[in-house]
This record gives sequence, C-alpha cells and structure tokens, in this order.
Amino acid sequence: MLPDHLQQRIAAAARLRAEGPRGRYAPSPTGPQHLGNLRTALLSWLIARLQGGAWLLRIDDLDTPRNRPGAEAAILADLTWLGLHWDGGPVRQSARRGLYASVLSALRRSGGLYPCRCSRRLLADISAPHGATAVYPGICRGAPLAWGPQQGRLPSWRLALQPGWLRWQEQLGPDGCLDARGQVGDVVLRRADGFLAYHLATAVDDLLLGISDVVRGNDLWAATAPQVAVIERLGGTPPRFWHLPLLHDAAGQRLSKRERAAGLEPLRQRGLDAPAVVGMLAASLDLVPPATRLSADELRQHWTLEALRRQLRQTAQPATKT
Ligand code: GLU
Repeated sequence: MLPDHLQQRIAAAARLRAEGPRGRYAPSPTGPQHLGNLRTALLSWLIARLQGGAWLLRIDDLDTPRNRPGAEAAILADLTWLGLHWDGGPVRQSARRGLYASVLSALRRSGGLYPCRCSRRLLADISAPHGATAVYPGICRGAPLAWGPQQGRLPSWRLALQPGWLRWQEQLGPDGCLDARGQVGDVVLRRADGFLAYHLATAVDDLLLGISDVVRGNDLWAATAPQVAVIERLGGTPPRFWHLPLLHDAAGQRLSKRERAAGLEPLRQRGLDAPAVVGMLAASLDLVPPATRLSADELRQHWTLEALRRQLRQTAQPATKT
C-alpha cells in the first residue's frame, strides 16, 4: 500500500495524461550531444506535437560524477537552435531525489525490494563468458532482511520481480515481451553506495509526469522491462514506447562517422544552418529526400502521426526491406 501523498501524485499524473498526449526528451548532461541524440530529440518532439501533445525536457543528472559543467546549457541551446521548444522548465532529476527516495521506501515497505550483498566480483564470476552480463539469479532473494552495514558495507536494493512476462506497447516493432526472471532479473534500484538507479528515476518520472509516449534510442529497448515493472508495481500504466534505430544502424549510414559523433558545432562551422541540419537528420530516417532544407515546424506539417509511424516502422527494420 503506497502512502497517501504518492497515491495522490499518481492519480494527478493519470489525470494529466488523460487530458492529452505527453512526450519527453531525457538527455544526460555528460557532454556535447551527438547527432544521434539530436535526432532522437527531433523525433520525440515531432511525435508529441503531431498528437497536439505536450513535450517535456528532463535532464537526467543523477549520476553526478558523469555530469559535465556547461553540458545542460549546451543541450538547451542546441534544442532551441533546432527549433525544438519544450513546455515548462526543464525537469532536473537531481532536484527530485526526495521523491525517488520516498518511492523506494514505499516499495521497500510493501515487500517489493530486497537487500542484496553480492559483491561485484561474485557477480562477475557467475556472469556469462565473454563479458555478457548475466541475469541476476536471485541469490539474496528470500534471505532474511538485514538492512544495516555488514563489514562496513550497506546492501544494494533489488526489485523482486514476479515470475512471468513483462510486456509493453512498442510502436515501431512487435510489442516488447521479456521473461522477468529468465531474461531481466531483479535489477538494482539503489546501489550500495547510495546512488539511485536510472531505472527507478526514469520509471518514477515517466509515471509521475504523466508521460504517454517515450521516444528514445533502441539501445534502451531491454531497459524498458524493469521500468515497466516499477511502474506497474506502483499501480500505474506504462507509456507507449518508440524505440528508434541508432544513427549507426542502416538508417543513418548516409552521415559519415565523424559527422555522427560530433555535435552541432562542426556543422555550424561549415556554415550549415538549422533547416539544413533538420533536413539532414530527417533524411537519415527517410522522412524527407536527401539535401532537403526545412524547419522542425515544416517537418511537422509534412507528416501525420500514422504516416510517420508507418515510415519509421519500415526504416527501423531494414532487414525486412527488399
Ligand atoms: N538519459 C538517458 C540517456 O541519455 C535516456 C533515458 C531515457 O530516454 O529513458 O541515454
């Protein structure tokens, strides 16, 4: 049972979501955004606006050692330059630690989490050969709850997944479906050193900000399962997911490797303006012919949501193309 203040926030977010679609772009301020990030931003904006929906900017700055000074300001400047205007102020995860902590304790009280004292070395020993990360086999699940430090170390806290399938609505491919215990495993939501995990913060934010459509790179496809598990454990409805091909997949081959990795700066130095860059990002997904120049707003006028979804489904699965 969740405390009243959380239940009220979840209900308020559900009302917000019922009022209309809501998308979000959630960059980590770890350095300059590469073109792949910016293409995700463009598509996330486009998908929200084509539905007449809101588009939020969330700064994923919880992993403080990886944050870089000036990176957030550069993200805001890049989005503005591209004509991608977000609604309201940026939402900073670093300002929401209290919220994540209260969700964590609610989950803990309801028996949804368990402390884990497996060392990194032990986990490395049981992981698959060739460095593939193994699914956590639940060694500490069911052990007696012991919260305090042992040998000077606190436990990490894992989400206890129920056996069965974790499913989600995937807009650009078959619906997601992973076996909770066999393919996902009980993920860590709070590390032993106190860091709150990305899965926890993302799930809480997508739920409590009333997000209906998550658009992001398909490198996060498998991360969806634990996030869906957290949202469902909190009694919420997961968003729809649009996992886009990465820029180095077949869809982005027309940009050189150097162009993809570097951000906007080298393009601007070459004299490219925003319509040229928007055209280039859109052309890399076959949304416009190569060398088209157009603003983000003009791109929006070219598409309907359903036509865009059909086109992206084709581009996202080049293997099925003849
Ligand atoms: N902050 C994450 C990243 O930049 C993305 C999180 C998400 O879209 O869920 O990779």
